[in-house]
Amino acid sequence: MTSELPFWQRKPLEDMNREEWESLCDGCGKCCLIKLEDEDSGDIVATDVTCKLLDLGTCQCSQYPQRSKYVPDCVTLTPENIGSLGFMPATCAYRLLAEGKPLEDWHPLVSGDPDSVHRSGNSVLNRVVPETEVEDADLEDHVIDWFDGEAIKWDFVEEDLSPGDPADKAWNDGSGNDGSGDEGGWDDEAWGEEESRGEQRGRGVAGDGA
Ligand code: SF4
Ligand code: SF4
Repeated sequence: MTSELPFWQRKPLEDMNREEWESLCDGCGKCCLIKLEDEDSGDIVATDVTCKLLDLGTCQCSQYPQRSKYVPDCVTLTPENIGSLGFMPATCAYRLLAEGKPLEDWHPLVSGDPDSVHRSGNSVLNRVVPETEVEDADLEDHVIDWFDGEAIKWDFVEEDLSPGDPADKAWNDGSGNDGSGDEGGWDDEAWGEEESRGEQRGRGVAGDGA
């Protein structure tokens, strides 16, 4: 029966409420990688260099509530713009649903395990470096070929890596609490205002709350 289907199978993206929308993010962290655009072809390629705000231990944004202040090119996904965000990986849950495809079996909502995205090797865990450690001139040396799906199988992903249950993603629920526990500890002087580089970044955040 239709009513027995999970929400992502029976609701179009635009009809999802905020909780449902936020829970779609699998936490892969791929949208937080620096992208480069070929000036001639316009092609966009991803690197293994992450936004400076990405927590490499959890693959979550370390400053979710204030991310736009420090990273102005961090794009907020909505049902309206998801179809035009070509920089999202092919594995992104929002993109999959927008394209009429099912969620992957390693998606936390499907597996029931918030760390299954990491255990299956479909996150950026253990395969990236922060942008603070890479010179602009060296970004081209960091272009990757696994952005759209080549997984790495890990056998050492620790328990409870992600700070939340997939069905209750307080760590990514748009409430202003990213689960890091340090929302009040942001040091403006440490980062300063963002000097943007690379191409678009984005996270599956802040639906329209319908
Ligand atoms: S959500 Fe945005 S600001 Fe946060 S780590 Fe990702 S790209 Fe950076
Ligand atoms: S928005 Fe998409 S690409 Fe980004 S972390 Fe969530 S599922 Fe991954």
